[in-house]
Amino acid sequence: MIRFSIFGVPVEIQPMFWLTGALLGGAIDARTKERVLAVMVFMIIMAISILVHELGHALVGRRLGGGYATITLWGLGGLAYNHGGRFSRSGNFWRIAAGPGAGFALGLLVVVLLCLGLGPQNGLNLTCRSLFGIYLTPPSDELWAFVDEGGQKLRIIRSFLWINFWWGVINLLPVLPLDGGRITELFVKPQRLVYQIGLVAGAAMAVFSVIYLHSVYTAVMFGYLAFQNYKMMQENRWR
Ligand SMILES: [Zn+2]
Repeated sequence: MIRFSIFGVPVEIQPMFWLTGALLGGAIDARTKERVLAVMVFMIIMAISILVHELGHALVGRRLGGGYATITLWGLGGLAYNHGGRFSRSGNFWRIAAGPGAGFALGLLVVVLLCLGLGPQNGLNLTCRSLFGIYLTPPSDELWAFVDEGGQKLRIIRSFLWINFWWGVINLLPVLPLDGGRITELFVKPQRLVYQIGLVAGAAMAVFSVIYLHSVYTAVMFGYLAFQNYKMMQENRWR
């Protein structure tokens, strides 16, 4: 167990967090030294990115609602708590939105650094290639050379952009307990409708993951979340 404090917020990283990171980073078929190193680098990037996301929740939460903030990184991602904080509805909204906001800001910082290092056109082009798999404009010779010798450097850039952009977008889907579901909960009444939305959106995302993303992990995760929302909906029926 790793424990430390950042900006006055105690952080705990549980062993399961590293296991999830290793699996997502491709540890199962990492047979060469280079691949193992790549998995470890992915785990560190994931830890930094999720920590920044949770710090967004924790610091904005502490500022708007007071109380005592803590962060835990565990097997299913990150959790930020505000012990004893008191929140208005708008305070709650900003506390939730600050997590994805911090992640998008970190992603943007990486894009800005790329633009400074490679020139704006190359930087934006590489960002598009990393996130959407296509170049915005035909790549310059300089960019080709950078991509050709890229290796580990390219993987680092891609992981930073991918986690902070795509995971941020997915986390905003209206499915509890994701941040998107928690925002939905603030605006949609009755609560049963929030679970119905979560069930439909979660199931749709599971199907989309199988057909278009070919990602079993995402499909299983959203299938599970959809089921949880269904269960909560059933329990909520008589309230
Ligand atoms: Zn969050």
